[in-house]
Amino acid sequence: MTLHQLLNEGTARLERAGDPEAGLDARRLLLEAFGLDTVHFLMNRMEQLEKTRAVERAAADYRQMIEKRSRRIPLQHILGSQEFMGLTFKVNRHVLIPRQDTETLVEAVLEREKDTGKRILDLCTGSGCIAVSLKVMGKYGEVAASDLSEEALEVASANAERILGEAGEIRFFRGDLFQALPPGETWDVIVSNPPYIPTGIIGGLEPEVRDHEPFMALDGDEDGLHFYRRIIGGAGERLNPGGSIYLEIGHDQAEAVTDMMSREGFCHVTVIKDMPGKDRVVCGDTE
Ligand code: GLN
Repeated sequence: MTLHQLLNEGTARLERAGDPEAGLDARRLLLEAFGLDTVHFLMNRMEQLEKTRAVERAAADYRQMIEKRSRRIPLQHILGSQEFMGLTFKVNRHVLIPRQDTETLVEAVLEREKDTGKRILDLCTGSGCIAVSLKVMGKYGEVAASDLSEEALEVASANAERILGEAGEIRFFRGDLFQALPPGETWDVIVSNPPYIPTGIIGGLEPEVRDHEPFMALDGDEDGLHFYRRIIGGAGERLNPGGSIYLEIGHDQAEAVTDMMSREGFCHVTVIKDMPGKDRVVCGDTE
């Protein structure tokens, strides 16, 4: 038995299961099971594997992970983590898996908000990927984050603790958007990647998303815009004069969200595109 044979076996299994990234996923799981990096895999893949207990265990682990992936369990749930902004975030079925799209949102804040004295609030924090990345890379003195889900906040604070050394570096609040926050407290920047998929679309998504990611992290109600209405409507009271709001959006929501911000009195309302060129972030200022 060689690593190459194991890879082919796993790839074929995942192809039959309809995994669109069968080869890449099988390779990632093989590296994980055998504790290998890509270079060592490429150098040794044609060699006969020794018949040791360790090799047998690694092969069994690999086949078990392939079996899970063939049930369309997300790769990130099998591995337990996802990279975001160069940091490793623990994930589980209680949080949205951080997406590369969302790096556009974090980068927009980092680029435009250079003053480390700014107070930052991340609504719907999920895994905490936005709040933690902003704390690490923006070095802002005050970062707060909220979520409705207790389980999500456990993941977020564990990520904060692992990555920042201390969970206390970010203040976490549990509750429904602004209701989670101490009365009267205000921030300079509100950032959010809220759930924005129209309810009717969710059933047609890939099984990894539809069956394994939290419905509440996806569902933006009938038209997908529910949370934008509530966040933009409530942000005025929670933003300091000269404050700004940054929202991730679905690629076809720029016009609706831009209109909402303008109607609510935000100025300099701007749409920012992601790497593939799709509308991804809308931001605006209170004055
Ligand atoms: N803020 C988290 C993220 O961007 C979670 C977003 C959500 O649950 N909709 O990954």
